[in-house]
Amino acid sequence: MTCRENCYVTHLESAIDGTKLPHDRIQTLHEGRPLWVRYDLDAIKANLTPATIFQREPTLWRYRELLPLPPGAMPVSLGEGMTPVLPAVRLGETIGAPHLWIKDESQLPTGSFKSRGLCMAITMAKHFGVKRVAIPTAGNAGGAMAAYAARAGMEAFVFMPKDTPVINQAECALAGAKTFLVNGLINDCGAIVRNGVDTMNWFDLSTLKEPYRIEGKKTMGLELAEQFGYDLPDVIVYPTGGGTGLIGMWKAFNELRKLGWLQTATMPKMVAVQSDGCAPIPRAFDAGERFATPWENAATCASGLRVPGAVGDFMILDAIRESGGWAVAVEEDKIVSAMQHAVKTEGISICPEAAACTLAIEKLRSDNRMKRSDRVVLFNTGAASKYLETIPRDLPIIDDPSAIDYAKLFAR
Ligand SMILES: *Cc1c(COP(=O)(O)O)cnc(C)c1O
Repeated sequence: MTCRENCYVTHLESAIDGTKLPHDRIQTLHEGRPLWVRYDLDAIKANLTPATIFQREPTLWRYRELLPLPPGAMPVSLGEGMTPVLPAVRLGETIGAPHLWIKDESQLPTGSFKSRGLCMAITMAKHFGVKRVAIPTAGNAGGAMAAYAARAGMEAFVFMPKDTPVINQAECALAGAKTFLVNGLINDCGAIVRNGVDTMNWFDLSTLKEPYRIEGKKTMGLELAEQFGYDLPDVIVYPTGGGTGLIGMWKAFNELRKLGWLQTATMPKMVAVQSDGCAPIPRAFDAGERFATPWENAATCASGLRVPGAVGDFMILDAIRESGGWAVAVEEDKIVSAMQHAVKTEGISICPEAAACTLAIEKLRSDNRMKRSDRVVLFNTGAASKYLETIPRDLPIIDDPSAIDYAKLFAR
């Protein structure tokens, strides 16, 4: 199966058993498991160099040869990618990892890295003629989908747990998605979408249930590699829910290695971080299992991490193990203060999920799994301001501005 000129996708491939499927039509899961998009990397290698990419517009579409959109088809775009890699030495010093960078995904459209995946999924859905989409979400995926669906002129349905952050609820509604608050967890929302496919005639955009969100998230890895001059960092610390980001980055690094673009043979250690309020991946990692048992009574303020059972669990665990990395559960009770500490130390809009990553680094440093000299990249997957309910802000009120007592201001 080949495309027209300049499209390098060769086929889709089942992540569980390697079954090949054609990519010229819409696909979902294969026997309940996700699909990889495969490319003719030899042809890409012959026709593309890092120098060519370097000259292109700073959006994720600069990697178009490594993305699934056929030539001539228009992306549905809000100007997503490239995000800055910010040195965070001061924060790094406080957690034992001074060679720390933060890749700040909070600066993407809709304030989270979910725009990378949904940009690609909506672009491909539109390409295949889909008119109606639906998604179960812990928050940010719904917001991103609503925005890209609006941009594409598609009808959108969003199902979220009723305690999803209020900003996520608002952004979905504002972008015109038919948004529903569900008395249950994201898995319950997922069942609503899955069971409604025939009746509602919508396309299910759940994490990993179509092959293209991974390709969008993959651009985090492509960008990071480019920003590091193709000399990848030693450790990548990533807050993991459904796992698309971690899986996508690992795929990106492997594709870059096959292209011969990486400067060193060593690959980064991938670290998946979850809260001990919902830690199916660390539990399976520690037990040496390839699949994760769903977590009971999942609870965490880091809503992006509240995924009790991920359809791509084995893909996450495979990537961590292949990379020589770890899965780490951090203490839920420490996340909010870690968030305050990170934001006030660096000024970066650190979300609770990324704050959990700072705690994970501390942990990996304290038991010496990570070295002080390691070059570490932490992914700030979303903007702090989307978590209004979580941010402590009990501010004093000045009742009478004409009687202000300046001496008292320091007490605050
Ligand atoms: C969705 C989300 C995550 C988890 O991402 P996955 O790639 O699905 O594991 C982490 N942080 C934030 C802010 C999110 O919205």
